[in-house]
Amino acid sequence: MARLVVCRNRHDHRDVTAQLAAWSWLGDLEVVLTVVGESADSGRTRVRVTVAGSGDAFGSGGRLQACVHLQPMDREETVLLDCGASALTGLKRCGLEPNHVTVVAVSHLHGDHFGGLPYLLLDGQFRHRVRPLHLVGPPGMQQRLEQTMEALFPDSTRVPRRFATHVHELPPGATLDLEQVTVRAVGVDHAAGAPALGLRVSVAGRVIAYSGDTSWTDTLIELADGADLFVCEAYTASRRVRYHLDLPTLRANLHRLRCARLLLTHPSPDLLQQRDEVGLDLADDGTVVEI
Ligand SMILES: [Zn+2]
Ligand SMILES: [Zn+2]
Repeated sequence: MARLVVCRNRHDHRDVTAQLAAWSWLGDLEVVLTVVGESADSGRTRVRVTVAGSGDAFGSGGRLQACVHLQPMDREETVLLDCGASALTGLKRCGLEPNHVTVVAVSHLHGDHFGGLPYLLLDGQFRHRVRPLHLVGPPGMQQRLEQTMEALFPDSTRVPRRFATHVHELPPGATLDLEQVTVRAVGVDHAAGAPALGLRVSVAGRVIAYSGDTSWTDTLIELADGADLFVCEAYTASRRVRYHLDLPTLRANLHRLRCARLLLTHPSPDLLQQRDEVGLDLADDGTVVEI
């Protein structure tokens, strides 16, 4: 009797080897172990994805606000997907250096997704940051950021900084090529006083897709297509909330999402109460995924 085991990469190989050891009671078992995708994978740098904030706007479950940190393993410079008001706390709790962040891609202009930018900028100022910082987000971000900084820290926009700050406003459908990082903006369905974006970030040969907040829209299919990881909002377990994604709707469309891995985030209390029945990976603050 032969058993054929196919796994995707070296990491999976370790899991399968452990599983085979557990099958030893089967006795005379001939095993053919095939690793596919290894040659294509071996030339690429791995990226460590840390969810520094997995919560909604209201601290549900004691979670911090949206912030996902991308660390290519071959360099110091990092990328953030969203920068909620508590982002600095989340990064520092995870031992991640905010001054190493060179690109922040913002999905939409709600406080729990972009409200941490003033703190990130001021922290860099006070801790002698020199690396340029690229802020990528929807049209209107430059003005909203200046208004927010002035409301929270008057005159903070007028103080000279040692580091350059570049704001790039991307309409839905646009792509921005920065050195070593590409950000593609995909329109999603969420009301934030400015267009809301799904973000598709390519870094170190990996693709990370991120829904931001949105109700179901078929643009999520394009967003997730071929991604190594899709970080997707799952807000409620059953009830529908306008402009947010509920689990039954996501489940009904799962077969249309062609991503290698799915990680849910941004849960409401309703979803957290039914966590055991979710059956899909749900991020916590501090969750790490290597892709
Ligand atoms: Zn949100
Ligand atoms: Zn929102």
